[in-house]
Amino acid sequence: MNHSRPRHLVALMSAVLVVCLIGIYWRPLGQLSALWPANAVLLGLFLRSPGLAAPTGWFAAAAGYIAADLLTGSSVLWAATLSVINLLSVFVALRLCRGLSPSERHSIAPGALARLLLAMAVASVVAGLLGGLLIWQMLGKSFWSAAANWAVSELLAYIIVLPSVLSAPDPRKWKLTRPAHLSAWLKRKFIIVLWLLLTLVAGVIIGGPGVVAFPVSALLVCALSCGMFTTAIMTLAFSLWTLLGTTFGHIELLFDSNNHLGLLSMRLGVASVALAPIVVASVMASRERSLDAMRHLAEHDALTGLLNRRAFFERVRHQLSRLIDQQQPAALLMIDMDHFKQINDRYGHAAGDAVLRSAARKLRDSLRGSDVCGRLGGEEFAVLIPRCTPALLERITSRIHQVPRHLPVTLDKGREAVFRLSVSIGATYCQGPSDDLTSMLSRADQAMYAAKQGGRDQTRIA
Ligand code: GH3
Ligand code: MG
Ligand code: MG
Repeated sequence: MNHSRPRHLVALMSAVLVVCLIGIYWRPLGQLSALWPANAVLLGLFLRSPGLAAPTGWFAAAAGYIAADLLTGSSVLWAATLSVINLLSVFVALRLCRGLSPSERHSIAPGALARLLLAMAVASVVAGLLGGLLIWQMLGKSFWSAAANWAVSELLAYIIVLPSVLSAPDPRKWKLTRPAHLSAWLKRKFIIVLWLLLTLVAGVIIGGPGVVAFPVSALLVCALSCGMFTTAIMTLAFSLWTLLGTTFGHIELLFDSNNHLGLLSMRLGVASVALAPIVVASVMASRERSLDAMRHLAEHDALTGLLNRRAFFERVRHQLSRLIDQQQPAALLMIDMDHFKQINDRYGHAAGDAVLRSAARKLRDSLRGSDVCGRLGGEEFAVLIPRCTPALLERITSRIHQVPRHLPVTLDKGREAVFRLSVSIGATYCQGPSDDLTSMLSRADQAMYAAKQGGRDQTRIA
């Protein structure tokens, strides 16, 4: 996708402007912002859409930063200097994230997490040093204290905001925007959301330095069961609540807010608490992906990618019992390729494999999504056809007979060849509640044998 179109640039500039205005609004009197989310949002957008990080994208972002400061009464020099520091921070982080694949960035994979953290830390130190210099020069405050404050705030903003931006699903695919999905989601996650809310409210009522740790267990349970994006949003909610609550005095931490070290320690505490659920969610998501891959390997045939024998029987048993309960008809087909041995004998086993792959792909394409199809072994396949009428059976079997008539395959050394074969099919209907898969398989097998005896390339119904 080309991300340098004018409307993308305007959207980028507007996004930076809005998050800058939010950051500026959160500046308590006389201090820098309690939270400056703009750099994290910009870094997230650039990481998600690398096409945006072209010179035009940087100019659009700079325009957003400068416009926000000018709109809120800063001088041109101040606005320009601040935006240079902000852009440098994002630039450094972006350079350090080079080499991460789009899926590693989007899923915040455990391998990407270390790189992201390093990038955020280095960018924060760079911004801190430049910011410290600016404050020392312009406001005459201590360089080291300003630099440390700036760097910690920057790191905190990156840690709590970036995961949400990176892991957010594509808005066009966002199912939760539909009320039914949202209410189903809330029903499932109600306890966790309620638990987090209670800990946040308890923080306001009880106060004190322990407040930062109150929501840890709710956030960890969320990380274990809700996925990366939800965890990132809940972590963001906790961090914003705690930071803004303390900044604006709704949460009493029982330390003097003019005590720089105390403030620094509180921000680092929030950052550390926010990081823990993100790490757990990242590891959980990676474990889930490995399990999915293993499940796929365990259920699918390595050569053709169709369901293997065990998974096919499991799915068919499950489907059949549902169809019988709903008093719906169903048919089972056994399909055996004719004279397949000759292919191996004439062209070699590798060619036979290629023919089987091609046949399996075309067989799957010739069926409906609700049909269950598997490779039982060798050149034998089976199909369950739910809600099967005699007319449908006729249509589907004649389609299947067409499958091996034209099988294009790529042989060794890239040679293309087209094989022409035939199949014999044995079919049987489910005969009601007393019927079962074993009996159906045996009837379909006998019918298939009859089709072979009858001259092959035909269907017999038991
Ligand atoms: P018909 O079914 O028409 O009676 O003849 P056929 O030659 O297909 O019969 P048979 O079932 O005896 O032989 C099936 C052959 O399929 C045996 C084996 O060489 C071949 N075969 C089985 N599995 C594979 C496989 O995974 N790859 C390849 N290349 N060949 C296989
Ligand atoms: Mg055969
Ligand atoms: Mg066979």
